Amino acid sequence: MKTYQHFINGEFQGSHQTFEIRNPATGVTIGLAARGTGTEIAQAVDAARETFQTTSWGDMDGRLRGALLRNIACVIRRHAVELAALEVADAGKTIGDARAEIEIAAQVWDYYADLTQSVIGTVNAVPSPDQFDYTVRQPMGVIGIIIPWNFPFVLTALKLAPALAAGNTVVLKPAEETPVTASVLGGLLNEAGVPHGVVNIVLGVGEEAGAALAANEKVDKLVFTGSTEVGSLVMKAAARNITDVTLELGGKSANIICADADREQAVMSAAFGCLLHSGQCCCAGTRLLIERSIYDSFMSQLKDCFERVRVGDPSDERTHLGPIINEKQFQRIQSYIDIGKSEGATLVTGGARALGGALEKGFYYQPTLFGNAGNGMRIARDEIFGPVLTCIPFEDLDQAIALANDSSYGLAAGVCTRDLIKAHYAARRLQAGTVWINTFNGLALNAPFLGWKRSGIGVERGVEGLHDHTRLKHVRIDMSRKALPVFGDS
Ligand code: NAD
Repeated sequence: MKTYQHFINGEFQGSHQTFEIRNPATGVTIGLAARGTGTEIAQAVDAARETFQTTSWGDMDGRLRGALLRNIACVIRRHAVELAALEVADAGKTIGDARAEIEIAAQVWDYYADLTQSVIGTVNAVPSPDQFDYTVRQPMGVIGIIIPWNFPFVLTALKLAPALAAGNTVVLKPAEETPVTASVLGGLLNEAGVPHGVVNIVLGVGEEAGAALAANEKVDKLVFTGSTEVGSLVMKAAARNITDVTLELGGKSANIICADADREQAVMSAAFGCLLHSGQCCCAGTRLLIERSIYDSFMSQLKDCFERVRVGDPSDERTHLGPIINEKQFQRIQSYIDIGKSEGATLVTGGARALGGALEKGFYYQPTLFGNAGNGMRIARDEIFGPVLTCIPFEDLDQAIALANDSSYGLAAGVCTRDLIKAHYAARRLQAGTVWINTFNGLALNAPFLGWKRSGIGVERGVEGLHDHTRLKHVRIDMSRKALPVFGDS
């Protein structure tokens, strides 16, 4: 059985201990992964620091770094078929999603390859022509990156590409549920010609390798994506060393369906918004606010749509929804079904394990709709991270906006309406980092992605995401050839 290894200073290496990697569709062990601890993290951080301090990587002409990033995109496309198959087996991605995500990852590398020359500063106004004043952006040094299991290869690209484009070196700790493509990426980086030590990858569990990376004082910045609970632990560890952090955390995004919305578009926005990757998506629209006058007819259409969704083997091209990542997450979803029922919400469809044939061995869940819910219920407040949509009726747009904003999270929100004025009115008032109008879950690499409130700190993607991986420096030059007046001189 294959053991997936760490990738440190350009070489693969193992650990004394390993952990099993299971296919969520079948429960079968597909390999072992090296179980890194503080020792491997320290080695990886030292390799990254040494590379940053003693090589020309950070000062390299942006065009050369851009060429390397573009090579990475080419190598990924060359190995796309193999990578997609690994993502299906490791993360339970449907084959269609896996193919799309490998291509998106390549596009991320291409996008930041173009931006390597956009790390630019400003010239600042000065009081006299004898002075020159400017601001530059410089790489930060070593970036420590910790990611979750729901979009393994895309998230790896979204984190690594801007960090490298800005001239940093990195240490990546992928999720223990999905270490495969991160480990394989090591070989692809060598194939693309990335200098050794620029990217270091340590596999392991969160409390060991993750916590050690968060606590390492030689790391200049921590970039974390995951739950709000663990994000808070990472922030605490960062606080001890005054390390900069970017956190992309959980969500409970609201999608507002106005009575005047295009019905087909709104149903698809609601269904796709919630069910993408079986609801295991941070920005999933899992609270659906429906205008009272269309509530019954909309729910009936949505129920039909949910019941037509094909749950099944992720490697089957016809499958819409694959399995839940593991038993723990599966049990969490089931517990929220019980909570929703006990809170008095109406279970409209779903609410149970999806069974039959090949599904028996995996952790499959039926697309689930709760109706007549209240925004105070736990099924409307907590991130369930499964294919469960909580539907709440509303009377007018201001009430819908107030309900949407009544959440500790602020990752994303949606509005479905044909009225442009209403759309802008809501977009301005919704407390979320992204607002989708008549759509949901659309990915834009060139636009910023960020969480408000307990959904995060800092910004990713776009030029802002590149700048988030740099330090600002201010430089003032005096060209007057006159000495500064000495204190006390008249
Ligand atoms: P998680 O917080 O349990 O784990 C995320 C990562 O943190 C994993 O690599 C894990 O090993 C590591 N980790 C765990 N304990 C740690 C510790 N004590 N110190 C350091 N690292 C530790 O999250 P998950 O279950 O893997 O993913 C689901 C969560 O991620 C959801 O809350 C989801 O909303 C969130 N998420 C957010 C975004 C976003 O961009 N906002 C994107 C994807 C997922």
